Amino acid sequence: MSHRIIIDDVTIVTVNDAADVIFGGTIVIDGDRITSVGANGAAGIDRTGAQVIDGSGMAALPGLVDLHYHTALGKGWSDHLPLYEYLQSCWYPMIRALDPEAAYWAALASYAESLKSGTTTVNDMYRQLPALGRAAGEIGIRAVLCNDVADVEHELDSLDDNAAAFRELQGSADGRVEVLIGIEWLPLSSGGLLRDARALASDLGTGIHIHLNESLSEVQISMEKFGRRPTEFAYDCGILGPDCIAAHCVWLSDAEIALMRETGTHISHNPVSNAKLGNGVARVPEMLAAGINVGLGSDAAECNNSRDMFQVMKWASLVHRATRVDASLQQAPDVLRMATRNGSAALGHETGQISVGSLADIILVNLDSPSFTPLMPEHSGHLYSHLVFAADGSSVDTTIVNGQVVMRGREFTTIDIDEVLAKANEHFRAVVGRMKVPAEYAGL
Ligand SMILES: [Zn+2]
Repeated sequence: MSHRIIIDDVTIVTVNDAADVIFGGTIVIDGDRITSVGANGAAGIDRTGAQVIDGSGMAALPGLVDLHYHTALGKGWSDHLPLYEYLQSCWYPMIRALDPEAAYWAALASYAESLKSGTTTVNDMYRQLPALGRAAGEIGIRAVLCNDVADVEHELDSLDDNAAAFRELQGSADGRVEVLIGIEWLPLSSGGLLRDARALASDLGTGIHIHLNESLSEVQISMEKFGRRPTEFAYDCGILGPDCIAAHCVWLSDAEIALMRETGTHISHNPVSNAKLGNGVARVPEMLAAGINVGLGSDAAECNNSRDMFQVMKWASLVHRATRVDASLQQAPDVLRMATRNGSAALGHETGQISVGSLADIILVNLDSPSFTPLMPEHSGHLYSHLVFAADGSSVDTTIVNGQVVMRGREFTTIDIDEVLAKANEHFRAVVGRMKVPAEYAGL
């Protein structure tokens, strides 16, 4: 018999189709699946040998899905620059200098920050994928990985690297690790590379993760290089589709929104990154009105400096209200759905809700804190408001992924966090020492 976990006497924010909130409920997990969700005292639950978690004073939520993510070694390093200069002087030199050990410890530190703030799935575009897969396997996070693929002169990854990673890692760690094809962005791509990426994804039966329409400079480069706006050119090359996750999409024309809708492409909205890099505010109300599936992402720690998806949720509401002068936009239950169900749907996962049959990715949020005070008993609207507008990642007490408790009482069960932090610092310094910054960007 598989291992059973019972979470007793907990407020369950299901994020199911009916958006049920159960006050005083019990969740049963058998192996990697949720097998029972209901009110306390449901008959017929066999407690023999079960691990019982007291959920009183807690809310159970589906684990958060970070739909656009990069493992990052150099958080906060050189982050005073605009995007293009930052990429050339810091990000690309740093990831060119990466070795497998540095990637492994960077991934563990990044995933630790995510799990500690309630994220159970990351859609991670980075390099050295076998090292990332090893880190995800050990720490217990659900990780969808892809390479930083670009044309060869940019000295990043190739489609062959990505194909090799797929063959090595797809479905590993009990199915928690998967591999997509990753396209860094259009200014580093030719039309041939994009068409080959689509052909490879089709051959392997996997999807595509791409940066698209992130900045005005990208739109300008795309017009100069291809004579088309970024999403138009991606469409021409067959990149878009229901297996494609396009990150950012800040500068979409009406025609590009229509292409996203027509192809069923999913969008990761990353409002903190877009704001920090001065890239603008995405047209999320129009995307949602068009029926596009929009999830949320933190992006790289360098362009956010935090993995905390509670912060991302708050921003995903507030920036649109501020810029449209409309407080009716992006209500809390809708934003929580973007950070759970929508991200899960984009990845084709059976997560993102607390329902019988779903994979058991669940977080417990401590309600016994100033962030959740006052709280009207059995008032779901009040609870949703606190979750999106008052809470932060430190409210998360327990994180469960694929039926495994990876953090309990804010302590990891899977890794030695002190060792991870020390090693990540050590490798960051070593990589900075190996970085080769092109002369025209040195000293910025
Ligand atoms: Zn990114």
